[in-house]
Amino acid sequence: MSRTYRYGRSEDGESRERPAWSRPDQQTFRCRHCKVVVGPIPYGGKHRNHCPYCLYSRHVDDRTPGDRASHCGALMAPAGAFTRARGEHAVVHRCLGCGVERHNRIAADDDFARVLGLLAGSR
Ligand SMILES: [Zn+2]
Ligand SMILES: [Zn+2]
Repeated sequence: MSRTYRYGRSEDGESRERPAWSRPDQQTFRCRHCKVVVGPIPYGGKHRNHCPYCLYSRHVDDRTPGDRASHCGALMAPAGAFTRARGEHAVVHRCLGCGVERHNRIAADDDFARVLGLLAGSR
């Protein structure tokens, strides 16, 4: 037998599969307030803009949600909440760096008791 069998494919240029954490569509991040590692939204939302546990956010968007155009980058604290006409709940975030306020729809897995607490507190 003169044939040589090779194990592994390092020489034919076949691309290796990238590990899940390095894919750009994974939106995992560590909350800067409560230090919990937060994964992508399971359902009912496009991108997560705040921590589902403590509801803190970061000032990364400038004018449009998701544009990531702001240079502020400070933490945004949940300052209140309100209910929209269609029964949607939204959280008011106030930036601890520049004081701007943003209204964000809550995500499906946000801590709802915390949202209700904000609703009660902002009346
Ligand atoms: Zn958090
Ligand atoms: Zn800011």
